[in-house]
Amino acid sequence: MVEVSRHDIIIVGGGAAGLRAAIAAAEADPSASIALVSKVYPMRSHTVSAEGGAAGVAREDDNLEMHGQDTVKGSDFLGDQDVIQYFVEQAPKELALLENWGCPWSRNEDGSVATRAFGGMTVKRTWYAADKVGFHMLHTLFQHSMRFENIVRYDEYFVSKLLVEDGSCRGVAALDIRTGEMSAILGRAVILATGGAGKCFPFTTNGMIKTGDGMALAYRAGVPLKDMEFVQYHPTGLPGTGILITEATRGEGGHLKNSQGERFLVEYDYGVGQKAELGPRDMISRAIIREIEAGRGVSGSYGEHAHLDLTHLGEEKIMARLPMVRELCKIYVGVDPVSEPIPVRPVVHYMMGGVDTDIDAATTLPGLYAAGEVACVSLNGANRLGSNSLTECLVFGTKAGEKALEYARGAPAGSDDALRAQAEEESARIDALRGRKKGGEKIAAIRHEMNAAMEEGCGVFRHQDTMGAAVNTLVQLKGRVSDLRLEDDSKVFNTEVIAALELHNMLDVAESVAVSAHHRKESRGAHTCRDFEHRDDQNYLYHTLCYHDPSGPRLDKKEVTLGTWEPVERKY
Ligand SMILES: Cc1cc2nc3c(=O)[nH]c(=O)nc-3n(C[C@H](O)[C@H](O)[C@H](O)COP(=O)(O)OP(=O)(O)OC[C@H]3O[C@@H](n4cnc5c(N)ncnc54)[C@H](O)[C@@H]3O)c2cc1C
Repeated sequence: MVEVSRHDIIIVGGGAAGLRAAIAAAEADPSASIALVSKVYPMRSHTVSAEGGAAGVAREDDNLEMHGQDTVKGSDFLGDQDVIQYFVEQAPKELALLENWGCPWSRNEDGSVATRAFGGMTVKRTWYAADKVGFHMLHTLFQHSMRFENIVRYDEYFVSKLLVEDGSCRGVAALDIRTGEMSAILGRAVILATGGAGKCFPFTTNGMIKTGDGMALAYRAGVPLKDMEFVQYHPTGLPGTGILITEATRGEGGHLKNSQGERFLVEYDYGVGQKAELGPRDMISRAIIREIEAGRGVSGSYGEHAHLDLTHLGEEKIMARLPMVRELCKIYVGVDPVSEPIPVRPVVHYMMGGVDTDIDAATTLPGLYAAGEVACVSLNGANRLGSNSLTECLVFGTKAGEKALEYARGAPAGSDDALRAQAEEESARIDALRGRKKGGEKIAAIRHEMNAAMEEGCGVFRHQDTMGAAVNTLVQLKGRVSDLRLEDDSKVFNTEVIAALELHNMLDVAESVAVSAHHRKESRGAHTCRDFEHRDDQNYLYHTLCYHDPSGPRLDKKEVTLGTWEPVERKY
């Protein structure tokens, strides 16, 4: 029997965006009941692993106009300028608020908040807490959320379906991972804050849990996914593991070098101009691949890579600003950055695309909102600037909490029986999957083939034919996934069934990425197509919308909101 519980708002996700939304709603109305549902304990959300920092204007030599302009240019003019304007205005307030709640931002000698340089930003505007920013931000938010008795947590519940009645979203079907029992968690509005989908790719900085669940949930409920072709490769991942070496290493003065010991970003430019190591991520990732293609890569047991040299920074600075980087390098590649260069290569890091929302975090499905990495509010366009994402979680998490609450006040609750019936149907689907021994396909095999197709088709450099091949492979894999074989038929902590549900989600998300990428016949931001090397504003200055359709993804367009900053050639 499916258990039914009722709240005013349901938030799916306990990372920075979900917690910030919960706090905003709980503060705005202490009488509202807010459910916070998360498939892992909130402190295990991917936000915890962020290292480098969160952007917001803080210094006298900086202003909102400059932060806006950097973001628009970074986005290769695909970011919506009304959203960017709102974001830069709210950013400093949100970061200061976090300080009031206890976030230990690093300080300058005079006691003011310290800021560091980040790629594509004209001045130092990235707030940090050494190189453990995500940990401190998430801890602060989690701790603060506990002050509100009206936030009710459902830890280790896996949401597998949105419950929709009369064209409005009124709850979620969630599997209690501990017991294997299904719950119908009902409310008048739902916020998705489920993070990104890096696990569609084999080599990624993303944690195991980043399987695009929220994107797939919204997509299957009829909400389009926007700008999915734009996948960010971070230039500096540790070969072999995908562990991120934060951009703060370059912000603090680190150099990228090839096998000849040359600072190639300076020697050959590659579009990053005088910014060199502080250029944007898309350009630096391409430059590293080009160095390798030109035979100037460094060879090693993990394949070809580049070197990130911090040796000139000295031990004292490394220990003060980048202690975790040193620890990670020592443990995972046996390199001490105080005395040796770090091996690095581009690694899948972040999804610019996601659930299509407007500036109020609302989706096209009444009652459904989205914020954080799962959403595409169109702040990041075709390429996100490092350190804008954590701030985005705060700014649009707040917005989602407030707007969902406003909506919930006027919305009908819906019928318990009808919504419970939907959750019961979902429960039966999962029961049939659990211990399904008649199937012939293994989860790991399909995941492996999906990963390979995505790396081949949707890498740093793309080709029409390999993108087309990725689309075909994904169609086949989606057919094969209905014949999965599962060994574990127990209900308690059945991680195999969760892996199967996540695989379904990743396949939908991966397909939307490949189909959207194959369609965009130009190069813009992170989408670099070797058959069409230039940006084509005449024909492609629009957002791609990808709709779920039983016969295959259907594409549409959405206008980009322009403003003060006219699209020009993107040069640094
Ligand atoms: C290694 C690393 C370093 C980074 N460093 C920086 C940085 O320095 N600066 C910066 O700006 N950005 C950085 N980023 C990006 C940034 O950290 C993320 O984009 C951001 O933290 C995402 O937060 P979120 O709240 O959207 O999602 P997450 O923190 O990913 O949280 C997602 C939540 O959703 C829940 N969830 C997901 N699916 C389900 C489901 N089916 N049912 C129930 N719950 C579900 C999860 O349990 C989790 O609580 C980094 C990213 C990585 C991977």
